[in-house]
Amino acid sequence: MSVEKGLLIVLSGPSGVGKGTVRKAIFDHPNTNFKYSISMTTRDARFGEADGVDYFFKTKEEFEALIEQDKFIEYAQYVGNYYGTPVDYVKETIDNGNDIFLEIEVQGAKQVREKFPDALFIFLSPPGLKALHDRLIKRGTDSDEVINRRISKAKDELKLMNLYDYVVVNEDVDEARRRIQCIVEAEHMRRDRV
Ligand code: 5GP
Repeated sequence: MSVEKGLLIVLSGPSGVGKGTVRKAIFDHPNTNFKYSISMTTRDARFGEADGVDYFFKTKEEFEALIEQDKFIEYAQYVGNYYGTPVDYVKETIDNGNDIFLEIEVQGAKQVREKFPDALFIFLSPPGLKALHDRLIKRGTDSDEVINRRISKAKDELKLMNLYDYVVVNEDVDEARRRIQCIVEAEHMRRDRV
């Protein structure tokens, strides 16, 4: 008997909306039994981030060589750096019947939609742009110029939410985590009912 393929779950939404925090809450929770796809990036590691845990940190040259070798499901340039999802781990995981979770920005999610139309797309939305701005300031990791670029990008990104299967508003991290777990569970019931 062939193994039923796992679900490819894509969480996207504007930067600063709290995708990383919600993702951590999901993976810290005992009910979570899907795998996480660690992305590659050319940006510098932030304080507390580790290679192979938060990201695989690569040089621009290394990243571009991997693009040439077709090693990404999707990749995007975001605020001057590359970010991408390595193909091998994702394919291996879903082929083995396990679910895999991607936390990526919206251009990348669009590419995944084209390649994997059956994936589950969840948009994490901020309660409003003011809240997003406040969060980026509070996080204290970006300059004013980068914050302004992220906000202007977020305005465009919010227009895309109608392309997603579900929208989860991130008012409260634990509630967003719970809703995402419920969506994945419900999606399995919908898909596996034969
Ligand atoms: P940050 O620099 O704050 O870690 O991430 C910036 C943006 O890149 C976030 O919106 C994050 O979700 C997104 N991102 C992280 N990994 C990937 C990836 O593999 N592909 C794409 N397209 N975006 C990613």
